[in-house]
Formats: sequence, structure tokens, C-alpha cells
Amino acid sequence: MTLPIVRPYHPKLGMLATEFNRALQSGQVTNNGEHVQEFERALTHILGCPTLAFNNGMSALIAMLMASDVQGMEVIVPSFTFAATPHAVVLAGAKPVFADIDPDTLCLDPADVERKITPYTAAIMPVDPYGILWQRPASWEKIDYPILIDAAPSFGSEPIGLRGDAQIYSFHATKPFSTMEGGALCSSNPALLDRAAAIRNFGQGPDGDCAAVGFNGKMAEANALVGLRNLDTWHYRATARVESAMRLRKALAGITGLRVQKAPEGQSPIWTYQPVFVEPTFGKSRDEVVAGLRARGIGVRVYYRPCHELTCYGLAYEVDEFPVTERLASQVIALPVYDAMTATEIDQIAEAFRSIRCE
Ligand SMILES: *Cc1c(COP(=O)(O)O)cnc(C)c1O
Repeated sequence: MTLPIVRPYHPKLGMLATEFNRALQSGQVTNNGEHVQEFERALTHILGCPTLAFNNGMSALIAMLMASDVQGMEVIVPSFTFAATPHAVVLAGAKPVFADIDPDTLCLDPADVERKITPYTAAIMPVDPYGILWQRPASWEKIDYPILIDAAPSFGSEPIGLRGDAQIYSFHATKPFSTMEGGALCSSNPALLDRAAAIRNFGQGPDGDCAAVGFNGKMAEANALVGLRNLDTWHYRATARVESAMRLRKALAGITGLRVQKAPEGQSPIWTYQPVFVEPTFGKSRDEVVAGLRARGIGVRVYYRPCHELTCYGLAYEVDEFPVTERLASQVIALPVYDAMTATEIDQIAEAFRSIRCE
């Protein structure tokens, strides 16, 4: 049996037909239509914080940064993230400064962030890798920079809610909760949200003047409708997904040389993927394991790749500047997690690791 890396859930056409037809007939298919407004109200309720919908997570990221005045300055980001994180910083006119991660949580290493602060630092942008929630370190009481969180993969992780000055989510089809393409920005700062709302609409304010430059980041009605119908069943799917990931971790426990990422204390990630690490005692290289899993029909990803090594960024970094990122990125495999994984599917993954180890 082949197991794809993601198994997206979409509502049935019949669940969308009446309302979508009405939007088509009325002619209002975008530009802050009634379904986008309803979706924003629903998100605001769920997240417990005022929320704007966007056409994708990347737009929400760029708007969050632009609305925070980072232009010409530096933003500290983890290297162990999806390329969209540093790209958004560049597109907002700032310079990404990479920091290493904590080996236990896979999130930004607070000590390395503190080392990377300069007079040009405008903001810190932590990431929620695989849905694992970045948590503000207790020692950061005195750190006085805006915290803008790339929470793209963590919609559905608990505890729910805002952990910084603003945070964004992605609702891309590969994320656990999807509007096919979509994203959101939430913040408790009304001025930041007002600016982001204008930036999302070409920078235009209510009077049509542009106080700042913007772009088109608006969500369309069709995507908001998909989001609303997906919210109807989300609670059940999220619960089943977290349960599936837990059963997968159990099945993989005890395989020598395979370290299975656990949830940090006090949180329940949504597990966009389940990361595992192939350590030297496994007896095979990570790449051999990936090839073996793929040969057995299991879709896996080598994810994340260190962003400081990407061609567009990887020019001026020192050897050993990111020891944890480099070690973990050389060992990591992102395994699929579905909303409801069968015992057979979980056994297939665990059996594949066992047989690759014995080859
Ligand atoms: C998915 C993702 C994004 C991009 O979101 P899109 O909706 O695909 O634009 C950005 N950052 C991280 C960490 C992601 O996982």
C-alpha cells in the first residue's frame, strides 16, 4: 500500500454548492465578501484574538512584517524552518538573521537569539516547526522586541492562542486545516491589524489613500467557504490526528537508533508531520533510510532543510554557527500523519524501519 506524505481532507461539493452558487450569482466572489467576514469571525472566536484572513500564509507573513516596520532592519529567525520564513523577511525589506534551535523542542534557541541581537534588530520571528509551539522563555521578561510568530504549521496545536505580538497561520492544502490556499494573521495590537488590513488591499485605507505600500493578499469567497465547512468537522479531525500521531510514536518507540520527536511539556501539537531522527546507532544513513521508506511506498520528506545553506542565503555563514540545526537536519525525516491513520498504516511504517535496519 502506498502512503502519501499528506492526505488532505476537503469538504464534499454538495456542502459548498448552495452558498458558492449564491456568491457566483451575486457577483461578489472576493474583496471582503460575506463568507470571508464570517470565516474571520469564526477564527477570531477560535483563536481568542482579532484575526484577518489572507490568500495564503506567505502573504500573512509579509503583511505581519511590513505592518511592524522592519524595513531596512534585521529580523532574527531560526535556520531550521521552511524557506518561506526568511523569504518573507527579505520581501518585507529586511535582513533575516539566522539563529540555531534547541535540540529538545526544535524551536529557536533563546541563548543564540540573544547573541544575534544587534542595534539593527527590529523583531524576533520564532517558528512552530511541525506544529510544535514555540514558547516564550521565562528569561525573556526583559527582551523588548516585537515577537512575530510564524505559526504556519500549528493551527490546531494546544494551548490555542496568541503567544507574541502577532502570529500567522497557513491554511494551505498540505496543512492539517486547509482552505486549499489561505492564511490568517492574529494580533492583540489593533494598530498592527489595521495596517496589515490596508497592506492586504494594496495599502489602501478606507478613504482610498495609500499611507503605506501594500499588495493583494485578499482571500476569495470560495476559499472562505471551504474553510467554514472544514471548521464544521475540524474538532473531530484534529482529535483523531493527534491520536494518530501518538499511536505512530508508540509504534516507533524502541527501534534502536531512531529518535522519535515528542511533544514538549504542557502542549499538544497538531503534528503537521511527525519528525524522527536517524542516529548513528541505527546503522544506516538517513538518506538510505529515506530511500528504503520510499521503496516501501511510504511518502516521507527530508524537512526542514537548514535555510542558511540555501543558495540564496548560504554565502557568509561560519562553519559551526548552527551546530544543532546542522546535526538534526542531517538526521531528520518528516513522516506522514493523517487525520485518521489505520493500525495497518502505522504498522507499515514501523515495519519498514525495522526491515531497513536489518537489511
Ligand atoms: C506552510 C508554511 C509557510 C507558507 O504558508 P503558505 O500558506 O503555503 O504560503 C510558511 N512558513 C512555514 C513554517 C510553513 O510551514
